[in-house]
Order: sequence, then C-alpha cells, then structure tokens
Amino acid sequence: MSEHAGKNPVEEIRRDEIGEALFPVISRGDESFWIQTVDIGTADFPYIEPLLRESFAEWQEQSGVSSAGAEWFLFSHDGEAVAGDSELILGLNEEAGHAGWMALARREAVLVPAEGHEGGYMRTRATLAVPVFTRSGGDVFAVLGCSVPAGEAGGMLKLVEMGGAHFRTCFYQKLEYSFIYDTLYTRQAGSSALNGDSALFRMVRRLYDKFDVEGVLEELLRIVLVLHPSARCQLLMTQDYQSSNPQLKVFLLDQRKEDVCTTAFMRGSVEVAGIPSPEFPERIEAALPLAGHQGVYGVFHFMLDLPPERFDTRLLGMIADTAGKAFENAKLYEQSNLLIRELLLINELTKRLNQNLQLSDVFSFAIQELVGIFRAEFCCIVKDNPAEHRFDVMACSLQELEGTSFSRDYGYSGIVLRTQEPIIVSDYLESPVPSRFMELGEARSMIAAPLISNGKTMGAVLLAQREHHYFSYENFKLLQMLSTHLGLAIGNATLHAELQRMANRDALTGLHVRRYLDERIHGHQLEGSKGSLLVIDIDRFKQVNDTYGHQIGDSILQQVSGIVSGSIRTTDVSARWGGEELAVYFPETTLDEALLVAERIRSLVEEETRPSVTVSCGVAEWSKDDSTISVESLFYRADMALYQAKHSGRNRIRTAVAD
Ligand code: GH3
Ligand code: MG
Ligand code: MG
Repeated sequence: MSEHAGKNPVEEIRRDEIGEALFPVISRGDESFWIQTVDIGTADFPYIEPLLRESFAEWQEQSGVSSAGAEWFLFSHDGEAVAGDSELILGLNEEAGHAGWMALARREAVLVPAEGHEGGYMRTRATLAVPVFTRSGGDVFAVLGCSVPAGEAGGMLKLVEMGGAHFRTCFYQKLEYSFIYDTLYTRQAGSSALNGDSALFRMVRRLYDKFDVEGVLEELLRIVLVLHPSARCQLLMTQDYQSSNPQLKVFLLDQRKEDVCTTAFMRGSVEVAGIPSPEFPERIEAALPLAGHQGVYGVFHFMLDLPPERFDTRLLGMIADTAGKAFENAKLYEQSNLLIRELLLINELTKRLNQNLQLSDVFSFAIQELVGIFRAEFCCIVKDNPAEHRFDVMACSLQELEGTSFSRDYGYSGIVLRTQEPIIVSDYLESPVPSRFMELGEARSMIAAPLISNGKTMGAVLLAQREHHYFSYENFKLLQMLSTHLGLAIGNATLHAELQRMANRDALTGLHVRRYLDERIHGHQLEGSKGSLLVIDIDRFKQVNDTYGHQIGDSILQQVSGIVSGSIRTTDVSARWGGEELAVYFPETTLDEALLVAERIRSLVEEETRPSVTVSCGVAEWSKDDSTISVESLFYRADMALYQAKHSGRNRIRTAVAD
C-alpha cells in the first residue's frame, strides 16, 4: 500500500458507515490503547479481498513454505478463491474447493485424503485447509489451505494450522499498518505538530515493514531522535536481544521502585515527570510502554529539555504503541518462521524414517540427517540395555565407538537415560561428567535428548561440536522435538524386527519354522560348497501322547528341542520341520561331522528326557559337485534315511547314500 488513495480498501472501510465499529478506540480517545482493538467484522468482509491477497503474498515470502512442494491457496469468507499457486486459484482444482468449503463449514482444520473417488476420477493429491478467524468476533474471514501429493499429507495438518496462524498475523499487521497510516494522515492534515513532515509517515511505515525484532527497535529510536534531536533515550527490554546497540538495555523490573519506567511498564501507560532543577528548569523525563496485544515487552525511556506544554504526549505514545505492535509482529514472525521450518523438517524426517523399517538403516539415516540439520561434527545414538546394566552404541559418526557398550550410568547418555530429560553442555572443559564421546571428538559443546517410544526411554541421541557454546537454545528444543520422532521410528523398526523374528520362530519350541530353514538352505546352496541336513523324529510319540496326555507330549517336544539347540553351533540352523519332527542344517559340514552331532543328540535325548523318549535320525549331505542340488532332494534323502532308521528298530541314525 504505497498510496494513500481512495482505492485503499481499509480507508474505504473507514469511510463506510461501519467506521466506528471498526475502530471504536478513536472515539474513546484512549491514548495508549488506540490500536489494541483494531479488527474487522463480518460487515467488512466484502472489502478485504485486496488486503487478503497482499497478506497472502507477504506470508508466502516470509514463511518460505512454498519450498515444501505443496501448492497453497487462499479462500475468502464466502469460499471464493482469492490467491494461490497456479491453477488452484482458477477453480480448476475441485479438491481445493472441497477442502475450503469444509473448513468454512466446520470452522476447523480439515484433511481431505487422496484415497477414494471423487466425481468419477481418482484423486492423486490430498488437500488440507484451515479457517482463519478474526481477533474479536471469532468469525472466519479466510481459509488457507494446501494441496500435497498423496502420501505426503501425514504431519502436514499441523503445518497448515501453523501457516494459518502465521497468515493471520501477517493480515493483521497489514490492517494495523493501514490504520496507522490513515490516522497519521488525518493528523498531519489537521495539526501543526508535525509541520507537514511527511518523513514521519515514511518512518512509521518502515516500522511496519520490519520483520526483525532488532530492526523495529532501531527504527523506533531513529524516529524519536528525528522528533527530538536532543533527547537522550534508551530502550529497556524485558528480554535479552543480544543487541550491539548501546541504547538497548535489559529491563530489570523491580516492582518496589516507583520510577517512571516501572510505572509505565506496570500500568501500560505513558508516564511523564518533570524534573525541575535550577540548571535545567525544563527537563522532562518520560517513559512509554512498548506494548503489543499479548503483553508489554519493554519501556522506552528518555530525558528531554523542553517546556512540558510543548511535549506531545499523544504523538509519542502513538509512536511507541505502533512500535510495540510492530515489535510483537516481528517477534511472532520470527517465532512462527522458526516453527514452520521445524515442522517442515520433522515432516521430512519422519516421512523418510518411516519408509525405512530396517533398524540399522534408520540409525545411519538419522545420524546423517542430524549432523546436517544441526551442522554438528559428531552424532551418536545409544540404546539402553537394562537387562545387562549397560547401554550400547548403536550408531556413531566416530567409528571407534560404534558397537561399544558402557555402564548404564556412564557419561551424558547415563544422565539422559536416568533422568529422561534432555541436556545441553556449553563447555565440556567445565563439566564434571566424563564422556568418551566428547573426548574422542575433542568436542566442547553437546546437546542430548532421550529417545522415547511408547512412553519408555529406550535410548539417547547426542550431538557434539568442537567449538564451545556452539548449540543454541533453539537447537536444544529442536533436538528434543526431533528425538521424539526418532524414538518413534526406532520403536517401529524394533517392533518390525521383533515381528520378523517371531514370524520365523515356532511358538512351542522356539526353533525356526520350516520356511525359514528352507530359505537358509536354499541361500547357502547358492553360494556355499557343501552342507548336511539332519532330520529327527520322536519314536512312538503318539503313544507318549496317549499315555501322558498332550501337555506332557508338548513338554517332551520342548525338551528334545532344547537338547537340539544346545548341541549345535550358532552357525547351524535348527527348525521344527513338522509336528514332532525336527531338523538341523549344518552349512559347510560333511556327513561325518554331522553324524557326530546327531549321535550326541540321540544319546542325550535317551538319557535326559522325562518321561524318557528316544529319537530316530536321518542324515544327508550335498556338495557342489552333485548333479542335482536342491532343498527338496536334500530333504528327500534325509527323510529316506530316517525311514530306514525307523524300520531297523528306532533310536538310531541312518545316513543317505549320495546322489
Ligand atoms: P514313529 O514316529 O516312531 O513311527 O511313531 P509316532 O507315534 O511318532 O508316529 P507318527 O509320526 O505317526 O505320530 C506323530 C504324533 O505326534 C501324532 C501327533 O499326535 C503327535 N504330535 C504332533 N505334533 C504334536 C505337538 O505339537 N504336540 C503333541 N503333544 N503331539 C504332537
Ligand atoms: Mg512323525
Ligand atoms: Mg514319530
């Protein structure tokens, strides 16, 4: 809005008969809250379209959401497309319209998923929309939404909601600016106080163009110095903005004191006191609160040599008030920009993490991403191992640490696992906690957060950097947020691994299932040179069941399985092959070597099972010189050998002749 012309939508509203309702404060003549209640009502809605469009453009530029690969759009209060990316605005996209209408009707954020048919065609994109409410009336004056490719909608709802809040701030900033501009114009026309100095317009306008906190404060100081070049001023802020400007100071509020600054801050009003002295009979001390809609952020304090009657309290109060709003907007911008960036990041990270169910892949991907996000040198993920009172380093950018274990209370990981709280270390040299991770990397800064899944802390993630005081509080908070998602992804991958393990195991005996054994033999036959297969069948098992019942029968099966597991090497694969038939595959093992193991199993079963049973065994081998190599032929020959063992009296072992 560069021209104060009749086309200005806000001015039109002001001229309208609803002018008073729109800016009621003017008539109240309340100096310090003159902008506080600037708002629009439903009667203004037909006039705000240009402002909506401008705010949308501004918002897109500020938030950087366009880089997210989503297409954004904006609807007015009556569901008309006002602004947006590409064809969406032309109304060609029915999905956008659908979501927009739903958000309007329901007055809440909606997600229209990609699945399902709509009007005879398959939707390929999901659409999200969120209503934008007025400040005071809570009416929906716009709907912000976006369309994303199917499969990318997860987590986007939060982002769209954030976007809505951000857009709203942007809209109100524009509205307030127009209002201030308007008021100043009227003032200039009717008063001599400004001496027709249109420089003030430009300056106040610049205040509202600032999107950084520091910029707003500097602009405010500049304006006051233009009005009163001899003023000695300082800005007392309740928060530390790490400014290089010497006029910016931290305001340490002491409620017991009764100086102008404390009073101005507490009451939110302009305070002026004359300090008469023989030397300076006309000295004025003034304090103006720097207030926004959500609170008072500081006090603008200055000394001035001027007769009190020439001091324009109203004008300065108005400028301070404008600066307060501009400051708040800039602060909100900074915060929401940060939040949006974080949400985009989380969205991307979780999406990619969840595509990966292999635990080792999740770990290495997470390490790589975290190092990139935080520009950290080192990253480490540890997993708690309470059963063995230690934690294990699952993945680490320092190779030496990968695969190592530490006592459960050691170092920063120990603290995180115990307290379940994140920690930040500014300088390791001043920290009493020993850390192998920090020492190996010669690091001085560190942030760490617990990895939580299903409410349980199951590990920790650590990031480190050589420089001291490297990580900011924002980094710290972001890691906390990311670790929640990382925890979930690791939890999922662990669950997946456990499911996989369970699917390959027989529930009663704990041995592998037949399918798994087949796969392993097949795999080995492709790359190995020889192997042996042992099949075991419990003798007269039907009789055991008939005599002692099925439960005892089950226990016998478990006992025999236990003996088999205890008799083989970890490289051998045991399985429950059928009902009461077990099998063991020995990779790279000759028939004679397998026979020794078979004999051990046979005699142990005879000696140790209670009630006592015996087993018959068949053994067969294959080697890469055989004419036919297959799982089936190996099983067939072992089975034939077993048959012979049964027929020659049971409780014995027979071998198959080679092909
Ligand atoms: P043999 O092998 O010595 O010729 O005689 P057998 O009695 O073992 O013969 P067969 O293989 O025909 O019978 C197997 C029996 O094993 C039949 C079935 O009731 C029993 N069985 C199979 N699976 C289970 C199980 O999981 N638990 C129990 N308790 N019994 C089982
Ligand atoms: Mg049998
Ligand atoms: Mg049997």
